[in-house]
Amino acid sequence: MEYEGQICRPPMERASFMLAISVGCAYNRCKFCNLFKHLKYRVLPMEQIEGELKRVKAANGNPKQVFLGDGNAFGRKTEDLLKILDMIHNYFPACEGVNMDAAITDISRKTDTELQQLKEAGVSRLYVGIESGLDDVLIFMDKDHNLEEAYCQIRRIQSAGLIFNAHIMTGIAGAGRGIENGIKTAEFFNCTKPERITNFSLFLDPCTPLYQEIEKGRFIPASELENLKEERKLLELLETDSLIYDGFHDYITFRVRGTLPKDREKMLAKLDHAIAQNKEAEKLIAYGNCFSQTA
Ligand code: SF4
Repeated sequence: MEYEGQICRPPMERASFMLAISVGCAYNRCKFCNLFKHLKYRVLPMEQIEGELKRVKAANGNPKQVFLGDGNAFGRKTEDLLKILDMIHNYFPACEGVNMDAAITDISRKTDTELQQLKEAGVSRLYVGIESGLDDVLIFMDKDHNLEEAYCQIRRIQSAGLIFNAHIMTGIAGAGRGIENGIKTAEFFNCTKPERITNFSLFLDPCTPLYQEIEKGRFIPASELENLKEERKLLELLETDSLIYDGFHDYITFRVRGTLPKDREKMLAKLDHAIAQNKEAEKLIAYGNCFSQTA
């Protein structure tokens, strides 16, 4: 299938077969997001989806994991999702799980029975963009949820047996608020217990509404050094029996990953080393494809 827009999937889904069931993001308003702003959201027809499944089967494909795209595949009508899940299992008998991104509002639009049906039909993991543990930041960034709604909807998916995976972004609270955000984000996850957290540290793309906020002086971006310190605070405070953490800082080519609590000390030591090695990152902001120096 010819893929429209950018291929966007969590790193842990890199071995999954990616099946597009829609194009773009139905919400498409988060200020920091550059993924689908150029695309008009639309669902793909069932015939096109089935055609892709047939094509892969004919090439002897029988993947164990399928990832449904794009931005918020879970927003598609339950009736459609159930049909798609049925087709997947029909064409790929080895399939053990179907995963996808979900926005909090997508979850809220489904009843408990629908969530249960989707679980029984093979949905396994939902990746939810939580982003921050601070309500004012979620409002400023025009996320589709506040914390109370996130608590409520995550409880509902977990009650249905679906696995909650979270995406966050260090740096999203702006300069001077990294530690505060780290503390509040840890508080949120200590209650909601995700299986995995992926941190895509904030990247400031000139094509996003957030960039205009920076130009108007309404958002002061945090430095890469502050982002590392925020991540350290978060890792220090996460209370869990088992949580997989993966954090990327592409612009200082730093990545910290492991399972908490077992790898905590190793991960904190790695962050301490990165903080010491990146003192100059105090002046580095992750703008576009390169760093800009602040004054
Ligand atoms: S819901 Fe996700 S894909 Fe859609 S605009 Fe927000 S961050 Fe981007």
